[in-house]
Amino acid sequence: MRFIQARWQSDEKVLEPTVFELSSGSFYSFPVEEELKKYAKIPNDLRRDELNLPGLSEPEVARHFSRLAEMNYGVDSNSYWLGSCTMKYNPKLNERIAREKRMLMIHPYQPEETVQGALQIMYELSEMLSRITGLPHFTLQPAAGAHGELTGALIIRKRHEDENERRNEMIVPESAHGSNFASAAMAGFKVIRIPPDEDGCVDISALKAAVSERTAGMMITNPNTLGIFESRILEISDVIHGAGGLLYYDGANLNAIIGKVLLSKMGIDIAHLNLHKTFSAPHGSGGPGAGAVGVVDELKEYLPVPVVRKRGDGSYYLDFSLKKTIGRVRSFYGNFNVMIKAWAYLKALGSEGLPKVAEISVLNANYALFHIRKIEGIDVKYGKRRPCKHEFVVSLQGFKKYGVKALDFAKRLLDYGVHPPTIYFPHIVEEAFMMEPTESESLRDLDNYIEAMRKIAEEARENRELLLKAPHSTAIGRLDEARASRQPILSWRMYRKIMSQQGAESHE
Ligand SMILES: *Cc1c(COP(=O)(O)O)cnc(C)c1O
Repeated sequence: MRFIQARWQSDEKVLEPTVFELSSGSFYSFPVEEELKKYAKIPNDLRRDELNLPGLSEPEVARHFSRLAEMNYGVDSNSYWLGSCTMKYNPKLNERIAREKRMLMIHPYQPEETVQGALQIMYELSEMLSRITGLPHFTLQPAAGAHGELTGALIIRKRHEDENERRNEMIVPESAHGSNFASAAMAGFKVIRIPPDEDGCVDISALKAAVSERTAGMMITNPNTLGIFESRILEISDVIHGAGGLLYYDGANLNAIIGKVLLSKMGIDIAHLNLHKTFSAPHGSGGPGAGAVGVVDELKEYLPVPVVRKRGDGSYYLDFSLKKTIGRVRSFYGNFNVMIKAWAYLKALGSEGLPKVAEISVLNANYALFHIRKIEGIDVKYGKRRPCKHEFVVSLQGFKKYGVKALDFAKRLLDYGVHPPTIYFPHIVEEAFMMEPTESESLRDLDNYIEAMRKIAEEARENRELLLKAPHSTAIGRLDEARASRQPILSWRMYRKIMSQQGAESHE
């Protein structure tokens, strides 16, 4: 029998029972309870003698929650080629180190001398990020990539203000991650978009036309979100610097070039790196993340405070004295737990392992691209004649004639047990499928995913209904995605409340 996920919604009305529905009613209370009451610090008036708990045996409880846990698809479940997001495997060792009691039980208000180990981790992580990027100064405070961008954009703004320059325009290529436009706007800049050339790269003549004495800087992603390396990066850097602007690098995803290229050699002034992407800390559902920001020497005084420093005697301290700091961007020191995982990852890989991340992730992406672009109906729009880097974008426009969209394809992939890639992004590619296998995938994983794509392409031609109703095997079928993000129902209690408001006659 084929395994089917636990269900909350179903055409056949077979729904996953709640623990209360499973309950046999009887409830066994351990005799130790009376003993425990003596030690419990709960005030008398807050104690209850009766609890509305379901009556279940331990295996019933274990199985119920294991089934529910299987509703959650993660990188431990199977392939997860979510382009731009770098859903790479999160080594369990990192998790274990981050969960060490000595790491978990420290408090951000503890005196410096009692948290030397934590400061050392932050210091060493910053040092390693500097070695990887060539940018000598880092802050680990921002809590996400987008937050790092905002931090960077604020630094750029303050820098120009300090120089008495009225520069209020930020240049962002159209292929950029959506957060770039938002961060620049949030920092008070007017966003100037520039279109790609036919290779999907920055159109240099459009860039030259866009710069002026109002240019504050440019935000660039390289390889860009089409997975193509901007080989004219030095020219781009010259144009921006020549106009008096600063070059910001969106390094959310450094997988393709890590250990291979220094950002400083590309003329980058300021960059953020997502510790929760490239550096293996897990992410999803909005956090927790860490968007470390690195800067060149001339911008070091602008970083958020505090920064961790090392004294001559080997001890560490927090430095609040940066003269031009943009201030704090987050409470305390950022998401420390995420930093530990990134630190452990880098320590484990070392300078020999790190370039292999780039090599294997690029090799995997090119292997997948080579086979997937051969599937009839699938097409490459940009960079046709070039190898991709860590990710690639194909268009599924060719299936429109069968009435099948990228969304239908994506949903059907779930039935094959793999997570769909990023879809409809970047916007410059119609019916986009943005795929990033990462270095975690084995040849078997790659072939498995490619085979699923091939089979779905066949289904699209021969059995379109199957795709239009997909997924068939998951807990939830097609969501109203806009409503799911605007009106999320995140608990059983919320669900019940909304259902009772709607006078629900069934679970649906
Ligand atoms: C993920 C990503 C971001 C944003 O990072 P968050 O941590 O999600 O805020 C920015 N740029 C690129 C290219 C990304 O892939």
